[in-house]
Amino acid sequence: MIDLRSDTVTRPDDAMRTAARDAEVGDDVYGEDPTVNELEARVADVLGTEDALLVPSGTMGNQVAVRTHTERGEEAILERESHVYKWELGGVAQHSGVQTRPVDGDERGVVAPEQVRDAYVEADGHRAGTGLLALENTHNSKGGTAIAPEAIDAAAAAARERGVPVHLDGARLFNAAAALEVPAERFTREVDSVMVCLSKGLGAPVGSVLAGSEAFVERARRVRKLMGGGMRQAGILAAPGLLALENRDRLAEDHERARRLAAGIDQIGGLAADEPETNIVVARTDASADEVVAACEREGVGCVAFGEHRVRFCTHWNVDDEDVERALDGVERAVD
Ligand SMILES: *Cc1c(COP(=O)(O)O)cnc(C)c1O
Repeated sequence: MIDLRSDTVTRPDDAMRTAARDAEVGDDVYGEDPTVNELEARVADVLGTEDALLVPSGTMGNQVAVRTHTERGEEAILERESHVYKWELGGVAQHSGVQTRPVDGDERGVVAPEQVRDAYVEADGHRAGTGLLALENTHNSKGGTAIAPEAIDAAAAAARERGVPVHLDGARLFNAAAALEVPAERFTREVDSVMVCLSKGLGAPVGSVLAGSEAFVERARRVRKLMGGGMRQAGILAAPGLLALENRDRLAEDHERARRLAAGIDQIGGLAADEPETNIVVARTDASADEVVAACEREGVGCVAFGEHRVRFCTHWNVDDEDVERALDGVERAVD
């Protein structure tokens, strides 16, 4: 099975397993795990923030950020196809008591500054008031689009001018950085917090990191504990996370393979795929996406339905050139 369902299906390699076994650990809830502390400092450095916090998942990182930035009863401006809005079980309402104000980004998921200005609500005797803007890069549902830092800056600045904090869901921010050939820290200039996943294309078994100012991270640490995310000897997770961070440079290979995969898929009758910007290929089909996914699985290729007529394939560090060719053969047989 060539598993292209997601870039989260990677298995830690021997180096990661050894690093986990040998990690120096302590009780991280007491701030005493040296490996966690090292990872947090390292990620803060890479992202150009003052501090950072290890969390078990990207979802928790986003939800902790929302809760930390907002008060109950406020509104959050979210892109309609964003992970925070669409794929986190309504957590914004459940955990933070915040109501969502979705806005439609463009076809690449870019939210324009005017949209932020239009969606902004000033609190008064009747209106809740905007408490947060969340952005996403790369944009998963739009097919892993790598949004330019200037576009992030512009939307974020529109919020911050109104005193509204900004969170960046950067689950795949390093993919955006690799695709646009800019350092990851360039994306965080105008945002108040950013979440990155170590467990996607970078290959760590578990872990995401939420980064921001010292004051933000201090409050986020309390929220993480509240949500049950205070972990003890988490150096076991942080050690492979440190190795995963070193995998940033090889994300460009995933992008190259995704381009090859998309070009091949586009040649197959009944399927169409645009050139991907990063590691996510979205194939369009006239047939039912569920049926295509089932047929691909029978031919040894894992993919997921991404809407009624869209199928997503992700490249990742456990997929090599040969796997891409074999996957294309499998997809071709599947839709034949
Ligand atoms: C995967 C993903 C998340 C959540 O990460 P988990 O670790 O799966 O909880 C958040 N945002 C985006 C854009 C994602 O793709």
